[in-house]
Amino acid sequence: VNTERGLFCEPGNFYLDPKKSVETAVVSHAHKDHYNNDCAKFFCTPLTSTLIQARENLNPNLFNSFEFSEQFEINGVELKFIPAGHILGSAQVWMKYEDITYLYTGDIKTQADSSCEPFEFGKCDVLICETTFANPTTKHPNASEEILKLKELENHNVAIGTYALGKTQRVLSLINEFLPDREVFIHRNSVKFNKIYERAGFVLGNYEPYNRKSFKRSQNGIYLLPPGYLIGFGGRGDCYKVLATGWKAKHKHNSLSLVISDHSDWDEIVNVIDKSNCSEIWTVHGDGCFVKEHYGTQKKVKFLA
Ligand SMILES: [Zn+2]
Repeated sequence: VNTERGLFCEPGNFYLDPKKSVETAVVSHAHKDHYNNDCAKFFCTPLTSTLIQARENLNPNLFNSFEFSEQFEINGVELKFIPAGHILGSAQVWMKYEDITYLYTGDIKTQADSSCEPFEFGKCDVLICETTFANPTTKHPNASEEILKLKELENHNVAIGTYALGKTQRVLSLINEFLPDREVFIHRNSVKFNKIYERAGFVLGNYEPYNRKSFKRSQNGIYLLPPGYLIGFGGRGDCYKVLATGWKAKHKHNSLSLVISDHSDWDEIVNVIDKSNCSEIWTVHGDGCFVKEHYGTQKKVKFLA
């Protein structure tokens, strides 16, 4: 059930990605809008635990971490984590209670991404599915093709708005793979996350934290910084500005549109639903209307949150 604290599993007495302080939180991934600091117990993957602790300085004893596919139990509900392909450590939460299986997707991306564990399809009776971009008109292009658009902005510094966790590491590894002669500078907030990615075996390539000097020195550098810093960045210097996002409207005032999203587009969502073999879909985030329309009488669709 959806409550003001977040999605609540009554028989297990736990919350999925709670927005507020709760006793027991099952957390899909380390993005700030998916957990609350004041929980007595966290259940998540080991890397989600490491990423959250790097940001929040929480006591490690609060965390119960389980590897992907490892089964565990909370108050009689069986659980396991399945890779969500969204950011490092991100998981879908599979649950079983009284012979009915549920799969909470959290944030998912099935598109290829060498900076995190690849998405895995799960089976369930009830799919609790994110519908952030669940609109048939939404189609995310290939990230590798998108990153090559930066060639249009050669011989200039380019600042790209990327969130410190997830998007920065993905864009960084794409630049190093497809535009290896560009120098990349990253905001200092991302450095601690990069190190966790690298320790987990994900090669991000070359980068250095930026400062004023690096901006003066470079004529062809790419700067990855939190989107909120984009407007004021670079002063009067010659610098193009770009945002890496799946939200089309947000590209309006930028030098070019870099459509790189960490969420699934319409085709990906339909594929996830079809492969899950679910008979019911409960939608969370965004608008589930098109999902309901698409499945008609085939599957029961409920708008959960
Ligand atoms: Zn997320």
